[in-house]
Amino acid sequence: MQSPTHHPVAPDTPQAVLSRVFGYTAFRGQQAAIVEQVAAGGDALVLMPTGGGKSLCYQVPAILRHRRGQGVAIVVSPLIALMHDQVGALEEAGVHAAFLNSSLTGEEASRIERELMSGRLTLLYAAPERITTPRFLAQLASLQERGLLSMFAIDEAHCVSQWGHDFRSEYLQLSLLHERFPEVPRIALTATADELTRADIIQRLQLQDAQVFISSFDRPNIRYLIVEKNGSPREQLLRFVREEHEGEAGVIYCQSRRKVEETAEWLQSEGLNALPYHAGLDADVRRRHQDRFLREDGLIMVATIAFGMGIDKPDVRFVAHLDLPKNIEAYYQETGRAGRDGAPAEAWMTYGLADVVNQRRMIDESPADEVFKQGQRGKLDALLALAEATDCRRVRLLNYFGEASQPCGNCDNCLSPPQTWDATEAARKLLSCIYRFHQRGERFGAGHLIDVLRGKATDKTRQYHHESLSTWGCGADLSEPQWRAVLRQLIALGHVATEGEFNTLALQDGARAVLKGEVELRLREAEEKKPRGKTKAGRTTKPKADPSLGLDAEAQQRFEALKAWRSEVAKEHGLPAYVIFQNTTLAEMARQQPGDLAELGEISGVGAKKLEAYGREILRVLGR
Ligand code: ADP
Ligand code: ZN
Repeated sequence: MQSPTHHPVAPDTPQAVLSRVFGYTAFRGQQAAIVEQVAAGGDALVLMPTGGGKSLCYQVPAILRHRRGQGVAIVVSPLIALMHDQVGALEEAGVHAAFLNSSLTGEEASRIERELMSGRLTLLYAAPERITTPRFLAQLASLQERGLLSMFAIDEAHCVSQWGHDFRSEYLQLSLLHERFPEVPRIALTATADELTRADIIQRLQLQDAQVFISSFDRPNIRYLIVEKNGSPREQLLRFVREEHEGEAGVIYCQSRRKVEETAEWLQSEGLNALPYHAGLDADVRRRHQDRFLREDGLIMVATIAFGMGIDKPDVRFVAHLDLPKNIEAYYQETGRAGRDGAPAEAWMTYGLADVVNQRRMIDESPADEVFKQGQRGKLDALLALAEATDCRRVRLLNYFGEASQPCGNCDNCLSPPQTWDATEAARKLLSCIYRFHQRGERFGAGHLIDVLRGKATDKTRQYHHESLSTWGCGADLSEPQWRAVLRQLIALGHVATEGEFNTLALQDGARAVLKGEVELRLREAEEKKPRGKTKAGRTTKPKADPSLGLDAEAQQRFEALKAWRSEVAKEHGLPAYVIFQNTTLAEMARQQPGDLAELGEISGVGAKKLEAYGREILRVLGR
């Protein structure tokens, strides 16, 4: 052997970097191919779901290229609030990285710029608006002249697309990088899958020559559950959290700021550890809440969609929606924040008639042009179809992203197939009742309509003499929730529209076909209110808390001790605990009880630098 060292593998291969620096044994999925492409100087567009492992796709090539003397990798990232933790994680692994953003003092920024210009840095994170300043571009040009600009990584690349849900105009400027530095390799990464966005990214970032890597968008460890709003949605939510996720970290999405605050307060009053997050809160408060969510165990974040992008906390065990998201892309992104660590996680949503009405109205009332609105309506319809589905949710979800799959066995519909009923006749009754109102020049909302259908006399029915209508009481055989479900479906299908401030109902063109009996309507059985208690809303199986770790009592104790030690270290370093070691890594240590440093170093997630820095301490905590 020529090599004088004792490395089992040549030190400058992707595999060696993966195991020595990150402590992992094997690349996942397409990581190896992507690393190879970029390390060799090619361009890449990477579409990989959240939790798929995008970071390594640019970090490993950056390390390899730096070792070959090719200088620094520039990482474009939209979220300055998270750069600190990302850089902290790299430094913990022994990789020299830094960030430049507005949170730094002038002095700190100058120091980092000197590091940058010296070529010592392996990765530099910066926001797009900084990267496209003349000053920064000049610095890049100077690096480039000296052969010290190794590559660009553009994270959250969907931000360049207006079709995406996080459009940022600063991203449009990033085509400059290619124009100014055409020979520097670029890798763009996103978890947004749809084709429109994909095409947009390629065009706007001029990635026509990039190799495109598309991973499966399935997140098999996420269980999808969608329930109808039934009585009090937040009671439903509370039951879900208490019964399935006591003490675990989760995100609860609400549409409005007010609802975020009310829900967080209410959960707190119920004894849960919940915090609010929305764009209306003071920047300081927002930052503090986000920090606590990342750093503390088992916190629940109640948030608007302002929260989440780039949050790479691996152990979020559930994502709940109290309101319907805008479309399937948004639903997929938001739910995707659960279970990055690959352990079982749940995506739970409750939805009802009001959600359908609100979302439709938001589209109608938006100032956008009609073509755009039509597109939005189509996307909403696809989401409603997912919510109303009686077959596998995952099949539908993946199908939306152009992926074919088999029923998953890990969604509510697979686990307990819902009952369906033929609602064609009911739909006709409902539509003809609205038709009678129209004939009399009247408009009413859902509540009154259902009263008339069920023959429930009220002041209003008397006032309008509706007891004499031919449709009076014609639907007494159905319950109110059933009628709501029928109406929801009819609105979702566009046969009925809601209008004005009181959401009065109006027949649309499509209603005629239903009235004539040309359209069959099958609905899921409306779930009757379940008493609070042990019953698990139609659920059959559910792995209990800590399913991922599966530790016996003694190992669990060691695990707790390791966690306590980790939280001290994390505090000292000002970093989230998972940056030091992830739960799955600590659990492995607790299970295997390594006897010495060599054995400890074999555990997934323990790289050379961490072994050196923490190895002895960990063995001590394990009583070795
Ligand atoms: P993404 O950015 O795609 O959402 P991350 O890069 O944050 O995903 O990776 C998700 C998780 O998977 C992280 O905890 C990361 O450490 C882990 N991971 C990624 N690649 C590997 C691998 N090859 N082996 C083991 N763990 C990995
Ligand atoms: Zn399924």
